[in-house]
Parts: sequence; structure tokens; C-alpha cells
Amino acid sequence: MSEATPEDKRWMNRALQLAGEAAAKGEVPVGAVVVLDGKEIGAGFNAPISGCDPTAHAEIRALRDAAARVGNYRLPDATLYVTLEPCTMCVGAIVHGRISRLVYGAREPKAGAIESARRTLEEPHLNWDVTAVGGVLSDQCSQVISEFFSRRRAEIRRLRKQNSGKE
Ligand SMILES: [Zn+2]
Repeated sequence: MSEATPEDKRWMNRALQLAGEAAAKGEVPVGAVVVLDGKEIGAGFNAPISGCDPTAHAEIRALRDAAARVGNYRLPDATLYVTLEPCTMCVGAIVHGRISRLVYGAREPKAGAIESARRTLEEPHLNWDVTAVGGVLSDQCSQVISEFFSRRRAEIRRLRKQNSGKE
């Protein structure tokens, strides 16, 4: 782990904005952005439900966007910002994309593959070093997710009440 910079907070705010777009579409709010030489080259938000695509995590979509824009499937000097600690699939994609730095916000205790459920980047079979920085704007990043789930629970309660009233 290395230290976060003021620049990191700025880009994490951009990733949070993308997370908001996911929430507006009823998707778990996670946002990601790929940055190269101080410029945004890729952006994505979580969209597996609307896209009927189990791989449509924010990180994967941002990597696809960046690779297409740059015209190269490898992005060796880029930094990927994501609001939530990546899962195993996304860490794999980050390594395949040769991202050199990963900055994430909130920890994901159940499936996080950097420091929580497992430590994928430390596994010896990996052929690429990624520097990871966690906890950037972590309060805001976890708040968007907890707010999303509490709204969803309230909606489920409301629907149940509505349905029981019909009996
Ligand atoms: Zn993922």
C-alpha cells in the first residue's frame, strides 16, 4: 500500500459521481475511472442488471472504455480509481490491463480481493505489479452503498405492505 494524493481525492469524487449514475439505474452504486497523465481516459459504473452481463462491474466497464479509447488493451501507466474494493474478477482484469496503480474507496468485507476476503495482488503467480491504495474517501464511498440498500429495503417494505393490504 502507498499513500493517497490530493489528486486521488479529486478522481475519487469523479468515481463517486459515476456511482450515482449506477444508483439512478437501480444498480449497486459503484463507479470507476481510468486516468492517464492527469486525464480521464475511461469511465464506468456498475451495470450487470441492466446490461444482463455478470461481468459489467464498474472497473471492467472503465477498463473496456479506456482500452478502446487508447486503442490498446494494455494501459501500463494508468491509474484505476474505484469507489469499492475490487472483487477477484476485477483484480484479474486490472492485471490483464497492466494497470500500474489502483486506488479504491471503501473496503468490501465479503468479496474484496485486495485486503478483505483475500489478497490477490500478493499471490505469487501474478506477472504484474499493481500498487494499491485503499481508503480514499472511504466514508463517502460506503455511504452511497448503504444509502442505496436502505432505500431498497424501504421500497421492499412498502411493496409488502401494499400487497398485504390487497388480501
Ligand atoms: Zn468486480
